[in-house]
Amino acid sequence: MERGRLILIIVGITILLVAIVVAIAVPVSLNNKSKRDSDLARQYMREVPLIDGHNDLPWQLVIYEDNDLSRIDLNQRPTFNVTHTDIPRLREGLVGAQFWAAYTYCTSQYKDAVVHAIAQIDVIKRMVQEYPEVFEFVTTAQGIRDAFENGKIASLIGVEGGHNIDNSFAVLRAFYDLGTRYMTITHSCNTPWADNWKEDFEPEDQHNGLSEFGKDVIREMNRLGMLVDLSHVSVDTMNDALDVTEAPVIFSHTSAYALCNHYRNAPDSVLRRVKENKGIVMVNFYTLYINCPPNNVTADPSYATLAQVADHMDHIKEVCGWECVGFGSDYDGIDTAPEGLEDASTFPALVTELIQRQWTEEEIKGALGNNFLRVFEEAEQVSRDLKANGMKPKVATLPRDEPDEANNVCRTYMYGTSFY
Ligand SMILES: [Zn+2]
Repeated sequence: MERGRLILIIVGITILLVAIVVAIAVPVSLNNKSKRDSDLARQYMREVPLIDGHNDLPWQLVIYEDNDLSRIDLNQRPTFNVTHTDIPRLREGLVGAQFWAAYTYCTSQYKDAVVHAIAQIDVIKRMVQEYPEVFEFVTTAQGIRDAFENGKIASLIGVEGGHNIDNSFAVLRAFYDLGTRYMTITHSCNTPWADNWKEDFEPEDQHNGLSEFGKDVIREMNRLGMLVDLSHVSVDTMNDALDVTEAPVIFSHTSAYALCNHYRNAPDSVLRRVKENKGIVMVNFYTLYINCPPNNVTADPSYATLAQVADHMDHIKEVCGWECVGFGSDYDGIDTAPEGLEDASTFPALVTELIQRQWTEEEIKGALGNNFLRVFEEAEQVSRDLKANGMKPKVATLPRDEPDEANNVCRTYMYGTSFY
């Protein structure tokens, strides 16, 4: 054999061998890296509770099972509907604390919203009692820390929609006493004192945000130590609430308008104000709020990816600061979840993605739970301060004739001209 040809053959074989080694080693090393990232995500989640701002399982319980817990076993995957949540999936997802939504339809406004809301508060409490080895009912930031320490999923209540207080500070205070720690100022309807997000594209010009009574609701929530949740409200309501509140606000399940121009999302102008307010935006996973113009990948609003959810977290971090980011899945309140975030078991995958996007340990632990705990503790402190400064519980200020009389068919008045 010619010497030149031999060299060629040797060089060829060498290149082939190197290619084989690279083909095996690179994926192995990438695999090792993603395994390391995934292990690190889980380690962080064992050190700091993942606090999810919004889960609508109680709504599933009422519509499919009439809130009869004897009909279901949350240790198994529910069969009554395709849900996102049960105990095995919460555990697999390393969920440390969960705000359960006490949600009622807007159609109950002026009618029986209060009784429906109490029924949902009640079913959350019964669910927690039914599985004491898994859930622990808590009402304070310290309670979240303690439950997490004990290996329990800290369980909290958020009332979704200001229509549930039926224009009554008495009901608002009763909700607090029952353990409610945030109230979403509106759902997808105006109340007699606050405008919802639909005002931003179908204005009825009811209040251009909050009425004076609405501002008093915010003040009373500050006094009570109930977090002001600005998911579902109009931009004017967001701004009015930010003008009035003395405590940091939350968005329990809201994403970024700049990335997906759905009006349920928060615009950058508001994100900048939340940064000043030291509040938190807990990112909603709903495909409709994640994948739409201007940054849509597909025209299909029922499709989105985990990476796109992480894009929203990146954006909120950029505009509002890492101290402002949280998780607000909206599981079981949404009919389509992103690929990679199909249910409550998938949170670690999103945390892994943040690690791969070079979020620092402090930033990730902030988003997991430390940011929310800071907000909650600050709201608790504001409440103590306001009470120490002599602020008294608010009473009737909404005139009797202010609600829509046509809808006002289920009311009687004890006396006087006001609600209370
Ligand atoms: Zn909602």
